[in-house]
Amino acid sequence: MRYRKLGDTGLTVSETGFGTIPVLKGSVPVLPDYYNLNEEEAIAVMEHAFLLGCNLYDTAIVPEYGDAEVKLGKFAARAGRERIIISDKARFFDGNEMYQAVLTSCENLGTWADLYFVHQVDAEHEDEVFKTGGALDALTELKKEGRIRFAGVASHYYDTLLRGAMDLRVDVLQGSGNLLERGMLERMKKEPRFRKKGILVNKVYAAGMLPAFFPADLLIRAVLFYPISSALIGVGSFAQADMAFDRKEQPDETGIPAFEEALSVLEKKFSPIPCDRCQRCGCPYGTEIHTIFRQYLYYFLGKDHWALRKLDMGIDQSAGRCRACTRMPCLAGCPRKIRIPDEIQKVQRLVRTHLG
Ligand code: SF4
Ligand code: SF4
Repeated sequence: MRYRKLGDTGLTVSETGFGTIPVLKGSVPVLPDYYNLNEEEAIAVMEHAFLLGCNLYDTAIVPEYGDAEVKLGKFAARAGRERIIISDKARFFDGNEMYQAVLTSCENLGTWADLYFVHQVDAEHEDEVFKTGGALDALTELKKEGRIRFAGVASHYYDTLLRGAMDLRVDVLQGSGNLLERGMLERMKKEPRFRKKGILVNKVYAAGMLPAFFPADLLIRAVLFYPISSALIGVGSFAQADMAFDRKEQPDETGIPAFEEALSVLEKKFSPIPCDRCQRCGCPYGTEIHTIFRQYLYYFLGKDHWALRKLDMGIDQSAGRCRACTRMPCLAGCPRKIRIPDEIQKVQRLVRTHLG
């Protein structure tokens, strides 16, 4: 295992971290597969990862990640609390709610959390999180009280992460990226304001789907090549732990396909929209173009029911707005010259074909 600095926190983390979704038990509507491991089985897999050098374990509050937080707390007690770094998160934006959430997490864990993230911050909730009395202020207070060590923002949105990068209350950021969704990582790589923060990256396997198309080692190296602290890999078995944590070589670029080459692998199965999720396309009418394109991709990668359900929540409105849009300002922002309104019509046809 190799280790990297976690921004300016003073911590050193394994370059791959343990994502705990697969070890949860129960029926939780999260993206990656989970395996209904019981407590002993879950702890055994976490321990195996630890013996391979993993020291970073990422979870979320019950019930967001089922009972994974509780299992992680038990593993931490067994491994020796000081020997691992616990990363936890909750989707609360108001300061009072976040404060209570952290207390609940600490109770579930039976210990403190080293990193605690405001989870899934989006444009709609961003101001609430960052304002005085918002979730970030609550985390700052909890740091002073010693219940957590470092505060973070987790988001799929580049602009939100950049705002976090510029905020002194934020120590760590958690974003997403992989071989097919590398646009945000490319932008972060070029932006020096991210350098002082610890950066964790999730969705390396795209909710467990990409290893059916690309070797897992390639997927991990593709992300580690960016200036991040650790890539979080969902792990639910000993074999998956071996793949994620038995790492001795310095990650390099050998064999990592260019974006177009990676797309060509998918083109054998379907016609992908060539969007890398750089998020440079703004729609003044509120359509989240990159999110729609991501759900379209996930539909074909195998998360068809999940993707259709999500798309059905707004695709008719988005497609309708595009039909009425004359200026189409989104087009000017896209470096890949994607015919965005046409692609959105295509996505609507897919949804209507399957959902009527
Ligand atoms: S074409 Fe569609 S996505 Fe682009 S700006 Fe207009 S409404 Fe938004
Ligand atoms: S549509 Fe273009 S600008 Fe928008 S996220 Fe995709 S690649 Fe980037």
